[in-house]
Formats: sequence, structure tokens, C-alpha cells
Amino acid sequence: MGSPQLHVGIVASPGKGHLIPVLVLGNRLAVFHNIKATIIIITSKNSPPDTQLLKTFNVPRKLIDVVQIPPVDISNLIDTDAKVVTQICVMVRQALPEIRIAISTIKPDALIVDLLSTEVMTLVSREFNMPKYVFVPTNAWFTALAIYSAKVLDKEIEGQYVDHGNILMIPGCKPVRPDDVVDAMLDRNDEQYNEHVRLGIEYTLSDGILINTWEEAECDTLKGLTENERLKSVVKVQIYPIGPLRRNVEDKNMENWILKWLDKQPSESVLYVSFGSGGTLSSKQMIELAWGLKLSQQRFVWVVRPPCDGGADGSFFNSGQNPEQTAVDKSEKEEDNVKSSCSLCPAQHLPCDGTLDYLPEGFLTRTRDKGLVVQTWAQQVEILSHSAVGGFLTHYLPEGFLTRTRDKGFLSHCGWNSTIESLTNGIPMIAWQLYAEQRLNATMLTKELRVAVRPEFLPTKKVVGREEIEKMVRTIMQYPEGKGIRNKAKQLLISAENALRKGGSSYNSMCKVLKDIENKLVS
Ligand code: UDP
Repeated sequence: MGSPQLHVGIVASPGKGHLIPVLVLGNRLAVFHNIKATIIIITSKNSPPDTQLLKTFNVPRKLIDVVQIPPVDISNLIDTDAKVVTQICVMVRQALPEIRIAISTIKPDALIVDLLSTEVMTLVSREFNMPKYVFVPTNAWFTALAIYSAKVLDKEIEGQYVDHGNILMIPGCKPVRPDDVVDAMLDRNDEQYNEHVRLGIEYTLSDGILINTWEEAECDTLKGLTENERLKSVVKVQIYPIGPLRRNVEDKNMENWILKWLDKQPSESVLYVSFGSGGTLSSKQMIELAWGLKLSQQRFVWVVRPPCDGGADGSFFNSGQNPEQTAVDKSEKEEDNVKSSCSLCPAQHLPCDGTLDYLPEGFLTRTRDKGLVVQTWAQQVEILSHSAVGGFLTHYLPEGFLTRTRDKGFLSHCGWNSTIESLTNGIPMIAWQLYAEQRLNATMLTKELRVAVRPEFLPTKKVVGREEIEKMVRTIMQYPEGKGIRNKAKQLLISAENALRKGGSSYNSMCKVLKDIENKLVS
């Protein structure tokens, strides 16, 4: 356990998918290691502070402070076709002067920056004398690819990775299919590729890399990163698997209309369908998914966003800006208004502002007995922990959990936070990768961990037809072959709980980070 006085600053780059794991990391440091944490949140005018999200987090205020950097303005960039990674990196760069002021004011003993904020470490090296670590909120395979591609493959391979005939070799790790590379590697002529290379190099200039994974989930890759001499000579720094960090279910979020609907469903019978904080589907895909769900005849909760034909990360900066739409304080009112508020919807599909007309005609009425459609944002952790979807788990393995975690499923875009939230509830997945490193995650989940099924072709390349969707849903929720997948998900859940408990591999790994900080401070 670290010293009670240790104070760590943690920088979160813009985007809910980045802020959430940083908040969970701060929470874990505070609650389990008695560390004071200050979260430094970078925002921009097009990704305003997630005040609602912060409210739903039960952070121990005595131990965790939050500093919001004044929003930077990147409107010029948005008018161009700058990709998400480029936009985020520019936001971080523009926020540096304010981050300098924040660090001078809060005076932490050490700084942890998330995977897209590594430029802050350059500032720290130049102006502050403190240890600095990178927090990768996703997995070890991504980390190995990010570093090895930036420092080695970038020089060795000519042309586009996606056109490369052979799989990409990483010493000591599973190879990567060119089709599975992260978004930033798809086009080497795009500015976000340059940022990707810079980020991968900067990871290796830190004092260590904290990864949101655990030994049992990624044994071989972690071995490669820590024991393979060729890879180690590239990575250079200590690797700390400290995950899977997962949000806790908040009591105050438990009373809302979606959960009330779930209360009425049979135990473990509901498929949860969500595409993360910013994922979007094309109009055609949306229609196929709707009819695929209908054909499967399974119960579902589907978090919908208007379709976007321009890219799968179409809502990255603006999804769930009003998550309070489904939050506790409004839920009662919404439920009261259920029948009168929208002529489009039967009672189950609410709250609805009448803009669900992008769903196929007749879908809402024809699924009224089975499904719930939620607009934009839902309280995912609470839903996944609900007994209709999955067994409720406390932080440590509760007695008898195996009997409570039975048939259920999650059609997920494979963002790593969602993956962890699914696996730590023992829930098998339909892997529907969309952007960022999600292709890599989907391959890991289906081929290696075997906790998911996925469509034959990448959903970003080809529309997945309704019959294939129906088959995947039935496999996970109904067919006998889904049983093996469910059992694997339960095994992973046990290993995750073991890794996190006191004395477990991830708990010990976090202790090592804190010891390293203490040693560096005295030397
Ligand atoms: N999330 C949520 N409600 C939603 C959609 C997403 O609470 O309706 C949360 C989800 O629980 C997860 C995060 O947003 O913690 C999304 O992170 P992930 O890494 O899965 O995907 P990303 O959004 O970064 O692509």
C-alpha cells in the first residue's frame, strides 16, 4: 500500500471513453491504495465538460479532486476533415499552457497521462521534476502494436499496412492481421498516422506504462512485452497490468425507467445493444440491425443514435450530451408521460422526442413486447449488472454468483471499457467492431478469449444482413453452442476478480507503480 500522503495527477484526454477509465483509475487509487488523486480533464468547445457524467460517479471527494481545463477552441480544425485522433491531439497541445498552470497549482508527486495526452509528459520533463507514467485504458495487444508499429514497422514496411499481404509480426506477441490495425494506421498519409507514431514513441519515454488488462486475459502478450528481449529493447519501460478497471454500480443510478422495465423481464433474458460513447451505424445497417433483432425474437435494450453514413465514430464528441435524459431525477416524470409523449412509440420505447423516424417503419410497434429503445445514452454499467441482463456482482466474488450469471448477451462495438463491463459481469458478446482499436479487440474476444461471436465480414466494410444478425443473437442468447461462450465469459470474470483483489496480480502491479513513485521521490 502506498504512503497516505502520495498525490498523483491523472490527465484525461477529451471523450467519454477516455474520461471514464481515468475516473475509475483515480477511484481505485483512492479507495484501494489510499492515494490522493487529482483528475485533470481536457475539454474543447465541441466536447464540453461531462458534468453529468461526473455527477453519476461516486468519487470519494476527500481523496479525489477534479480540475477542468478551460475548453480549447479547435473549430478551424473541425471544418477540415481532421480525424478524431488528430482532433484530440490538437486539443491536448492547445491545452498545454493551462495544464502547466494546473500542475503548478496542484503540485502532485507524480503524473499519469492517458494514451492520447502523452505530450504533457514532454512538458513535465522540461519543467517539473516528477515521475510520469502512461495509462493505456485499453489492452496489452494494442500497446504492443502501438509501440512496435511506431518504432519499427513504420520504418520496415512500405506502403499502406492494409495493403500489406502478410500479417504484421510483433516479437513475442500474436501477429496482427492488416485488416485489424487501429484506425490511425489505416492511412499513412493522414495526419492522425503521424500522431500515432509520435504517441507510440512517447509511451517509451515514460517511467512506466499502466495497462487496463490482467494477466489471465493477456498472458502471452504480457509475457512478450516483459520477457521477449527484442520487444523489450523497443518498449524500454516497465509494464504494469493493473486492470480490469471497472465502474461500480451506483445506487443513485439504480432508479430509472430502463431499470424498471428490466425489473419486469425474466431473469437473464435480455440482450443489451450499444455502440459505446460515440459509435454510429449507417442508415442501411440500422435497418438490418432492427429487423435482425426482431427476427431473433429475443428481448433487447438498444441504445440508438441517428444513423451516420459518413463514418462509424460519427457521434464521438457529441453523444450523450444530455445523458440526464435518462438520469434519475427525470425518470419518474418520463415514466408518467410515457403514453402521451410520442405518437410514434408504444409505451416501451421511451423517452422519445419523436425523432426515431430513422428506425424502419413498424419496428417499434412490432417489437413492443420484447424490446426497449433508448435514445443516445443509457446507464450501461447499471443495465449490464441488472439481473435481467446479468448477475449483480459486488467488487469481490459474491457467493453463488455462478447461478446468477446465466443467459444474457451484449451486442457491443468492442470498446475496451464496454468489453470490461461485459466480462466483469460474465456476459458473452456479439462483437461489432466500429473504429479505433476495436477490430483488434474483436479478434481477441472471438479468436483468443472465445467469449464472443462476430459477423463474417467487418461491419465497417459490408452491411451485416438481418439473417446473420438473427443467427448471432440466437447463438448468444438461445442456442446450445452459445453455452461454451458463456462459460468462458464466466471463467474470465473469476480471473478478473482474482486479479483485482488484495494480493492479486493487478493489485500487486499497482503497488509496484506506487513503490516506484516513492523510490523515485526519495532518490
Ligand atoms: N456508456 C454508457 N452509456 C452509453 C454508452 C456508453 O454508460 O449509452 C459508457 C460505457 O459504459 C463505457 C463508455 O461509455 O464505460 C464507452 O467506452 P468504450 O471504451 O466502451 O467505448 P468508446 O466510447 O471509447 O468507443
